[in-house]
Amino acid sequence: MVNEIHAQPNRAAGLFGLALAFLASCTSLALASAPIPRAKPALPLEASAGLEPTTIPLPRAKPARPPAGDVGNAPPAPQRSWPKSAGAWPKAEVLAARTACERMLKGLDIIWRPDQPIGEPGGCGTPAPIAIAEVAQIRIDPPATVNCPFAAALHDWLSQSVQPLARKQMGAGVIGIRNASSYACRRRNNASRGKLSEHARANALDIAAFDFSRKAQITVAGGASGLLQKIGLSGKGNFMKAVRKSACTYFNTVLGPGTDRYHGDHFHVDLMKLRPGRFKMCR
Ligand SMILES: [Zn+2]
Repeated sequence: MVNEIHAQPNRAAGLFGLALAFLASCTSLALASAPIPRAKPALPLEASAGLEPTTIPLPRAKPARPPAGDVGNAPPAPQRSWPKSAGAWPKAEVLAARTACERMLKGLDIIWRPDQPIGEPGGCGTPAPIAIAEVAQIRIDPPATVNCPFAAALHDWLSQSVQPLARKQMGAGVIGIRNASSYACRRRNNASRGKLSEHARANALDIAAFDFSRKAQITVAGGASGLLQKIGLSGKGNFMKAVRKSACTYFNTVLGPGTDRYHGDHFHVDLMKLRPGRFKMCR
């Protein structure tokens, strides 16, 4: 099941490095927490503490596409292995979520790794989290822990809106986004009481910057760095305004600078459930 990994041989080394970085971080759920803004877990991750340690096979880079007519000799796609433990979740629920996940992500250009269930029903967590390292050829730095519907929405937004807007307005494609926070067991705005954040369901991502090359980025907080012009990017129009607006097509909540004092330096996007009478919140 490596349809998602479109890697050429010379790219495979890079992907493998990425995969090693994955391995280094996979012993800890802290994978999901990133420096900005500091997500201080208000609630303990008790359910995940007792999980058996697992060795998770890394996603393998797909070999170069065989010549036409040679498909019969192609090696069978390796199966992704999900961790054995269902944690504090009912096993049936975990299996159903994993099956849905595989179906949802099939054919999407995402480099991802299955993760063990986080948390428990009714609290923080999600039954079938995944770690995503690259989505639509855009590196997620550091890799984010999300649920599968979120990963699919992120893929569609990045490939259908962000990348075309980048090429049109900046004259170059985005190569990476800065993950400021993904999964975090906490309440909204890190408050001590109130509703759980969508981050607590692995259903949200905070984006602090868009990278156009190793040295050129646009931060959500501070606009474009001077290096953008040095490498010939045009910066026509307001790229950040455009991507923020476009996000509302794919996500149910989009927050950022100007929303409130909690979102001055990043975009928050999530897939909050829209119950009857509840509408998208993009502001
Ligand atoms: Zn957020």
